[in-house]
Amino acid sequence: MTDFSLELNDDQKTLQDWVHGFASNVMRPAAHEWDEREETPWPIIEEAAKIGIYGLDFFANAFADKTGLSMMLAIEELAWGDAGLCMSILGTSLGVAAIVANGTPEQQMEWIPQCFGTLDDIKIAAFAVSEPDAGSDVSSLRTRAVYDQATDEWVLNGTKTWITNGGIANVHVIVASVAPELAGRGQASFIVPEGTKGLRMGQKFKKMGIRASHTAEVVLEDCRVPGSCLLGGKDKLDERLARVREGKKASSQAAMATFEATRPAVGAQALGIARAAYEYSLDYAKERKQFGRAIIENQSIAFKLADMKMHIDAARLLVWRAAWMAATRKPFLNGEGSMSKLYAGETAVKVTEEAIQILGGYGYVREYPVERWHRDSKIYTIFEGTSEIQRLVIARNISGVRIQ
Ligand SMILES: Cc1cc2nc3c(=O)[nH]c(=O)nc-3n(C[C@H](O)[C@H](O)[C@H](O)COP(=O)(O)OP(=O)(O)OC[C@H]3O[C@@H](n4cnc5c(N)ncnc54)[C@H](O)[C@@H]3O)c2cc1C
Repeated sequence: MTDFSLELNDDQKTLQDWVHGFASNVMRPAAHEWDEREETPWPIIEEAAKIGIYGLDFFANAFADKTGLSMMLAIEELAWGDAGLCMSILGTSLGVAAIVANGTPEQQMEWIPQCFGTLDDIKIAAFAVSEPDAGSDVSSLRTRAVYDQATDEWVLNGTKTWITNGGIANVHVIVASVAPELAGRGQASFIVPEGTKGLRMGQKFKKMGIRASHTAEVVLEDCRVPGSCLLGGKDKLDERLARVREGKKASSQAAMATFEATRPAVGAQALGIARAAYEYSLDYAKERKQFGRAIIENQSIAFKLADMKMHIDAARLLVWRAAWMAATRKPFLNGEGSMSKLYAGETAVKVTEEAIQILGGYGYVREYPVERWHRDSKIYTIFEGTSEIQRLVIARNISGVRIQ
């Protein structure tokens, strides 16, 4: 039995400092430009790959930390640097996580390296679930995958929307319905490799925030992939569908556990944005003088900063707890993963709004980063499960009641 401690170990501190250096020296100076350009920041991803922050080894090393904290520390620093650039660096991990969760060991060996590429030839991946009529309700996907026995191929048709790296990714992981009558339990995930005929980018979205991250529709028209691109393989899928049809144990429990385990990573991004805004507005409040004194000398400003700091620290504790639970495989009996993402996301929105208030007019204009942080923060109450859906998960877990 070890003593309880919230102190970071030397490896964790080194990682935190290293990623902070990249965030401070490379991301911060580039953030405004890529927010304006609204396109994938390839030079920044390449820079991240060069020093070892983008790539398989980085993720493998961070996940090897048995406390679960290393990845959270790295993500908080990246998002502190800039949330849009951070999403461009981390977007690939959404596809990778889906391959890890659903692929066979052989499929993981084959496809995960292809998601990152090499230093000379950087690649990116996308994970496509959401559709125009299926956002929060992922059980109602319309994208269909039909097996063609004659050629041992799957044929995919449908439209995915709001997809990070959608249409420009080298590897797309597409979630499609294989047995529509089974709704959410009749779905499977497919790799669509680069250059596959029938996959194309639809509309590219112009967004409010995280504008350095590419978001677009992915259109699938008679898109044929080899049988080996079904994650987990056909035998396992057939077995699972047969079990569901017999009314036996459903697989939705496992999917829910996977979502809960990945939510703290989203919370850590929100945390990074909130901390950036808090630090900036604290410094500003000490320097800005009105009525002959620093504005922080007014309780109304100082108390805002006290609350901002308190909410950020509380969010970090929830994020760290959920990350530790995921790493040590503790069951999320109360929706602790959802709590971390929900609280950190809402904290980021609130803290960045208060930061604008502290800066006054300077908070509202693009010459200063605070308005960007506020625009960036809002997505954290929407994607990877909206705040309402997180509350639903927590409420159902604590009550055992199927709350609607
Ligand atoms: C920038 C960006 C990047 C994204 N990246 C990806 C990606 O890479 N891959 C991917 O698959 N998806 C991605 N998404 C999609 C994202 O996950 C969805 O937008 C999100 O799940 C919400 O779905 P929706 O937009 O259809 O909203 P809806 O589900 O239509 O929700 C609208 C509102 O209704 C509320 N609501 C819905 N159902 C309930 C309920 N049962 N109880 C209470 N309230 C409810 C919601 O909380 C929300 O407030 C991305 C979205 C954005 C904007």
